[in-house]
Amino acid sequence: MDRANEVPKRLENEIRSMAAHAPKPAPLSPEDRESLRIHIKKLLVEQNAVLVAHVYVDEELQILAEETGGHVADSLGMAYFGNTHPANTLVVIGVRFMGETAKILNPEKRVLMPDLDATCSLDLSCPADEFTTFCDQHPDREVVVYANTSAAVKARADWMVTSSNAVDIVNHLKEEGQKIIFAPDKHLGRYIQQQTGVDMLCWQGFCVVHDEFKAVELKRLMELYPDAEVLVHPESPEAVIALADVVGSTTKLIKAAEESTAKQLIVATDYGIFHSMKAVAPDKELIVAPTGGEGATCISCAHCPWMAMNGLKNLAHVLETGTNQVHVPEAIRVKALAPIQRMLDFSKSNIQKQIDAA
Ligand code: SF4
Repeated sequence: MDRANEVPKRLENEIRSMAAHAPKPAPLSPEDRESLRIHIKKLLVEQNAVLVAHVYVDEELQILAEETGGHVADSLGMAYFGNTHPANTLVVIGVRFMGETAKILNPEKRVLMPDLDATCSLDLSCPADEFTTFCDQHPDREVVVYANTSAAVKARADWMVTSSNAVDIVNHLKEEGQKIIFAPDKHLGRYIQQQTGVDMLCWQGFCVVHDEFKAVELKRLMELYPDAEVLVHPESPEAVIALADVVGSTTKLIKAAEESTAKQLIVATDYGIFHSMKAVAPDKELIVAPTGGEGATCISCAHCPWMAMNGLKNLAHVLETGTNQVHVPEAIRVKALAPIQRMLDFSKSNIQKQIDAA
């Protein structure tokens, strides 16, 4: 695998600084929380709106989505649910690219987000202009991009993938004799290349959450919990993946938690996933994999600072006012739809099984 493009140090520092300074919703009293929950439920009915939440957002938002007939899923499940649900308004509780994907798939629907500044370091580390120039330099390669990219980057792609289907789709392309460009996550790209053996040029973006997991500290933790199983998301560094019992998407890790016979699970992904894991494995002890360590401190500490910008208050506000609508210019939307639709068609049967089982 060749490295396609290093993220310049200046941009990397900027992204880490943005992550460190992402604003958090102000704490609420239990009374305020309950009154906001009741208010949001009423607004959802009045406005024929549904909540589509990512598994990394705060637990109270995931619970609210579940209680109101919405959906909690990874980005693949979110895209599919939003695309099939009849509500006029989709309220996407996650980060910006998820709202854009919902809008690309559902141009006739109103798509709202609690905070449009909730972004993603993978998206930020792959600017559309530079990526387009790079792709144009390699016209013989199929362009495969991760869901965590802007609409403009998707518009330059042939395929969109998520961590649930990336290996299957790239295997399919390899069987067709294709060489690929993959963007933007360097760790996921390397993992896919190792799993498939495809000829790949890989962009060098990073996730501020998964990039922080530390192998040395994880080994120490594994010595303290020798019977624990280690579940790792493939956006994590190679040395962390090498210690895993299970590597996979959030959906695969939740399934692994359910099926594992271990009493303790060490989990290397955003701990927002614990809500879904506790639902299917209530008796297991869930332990966050280490993110800080000798000579290192964590910025995100296993919880995405941008996912954490979503809260009850800004959710109620967008439902009351209709602000924070997601817009995607039509010319970009039409181009970005093709790689998303290709992926959805490829994965349709698998996703339907997930929705049915949820
Ligand atoms: S956890 Fe990482 S990949 Fe997911 S939204 Fe946050 S920064 Fe992006």
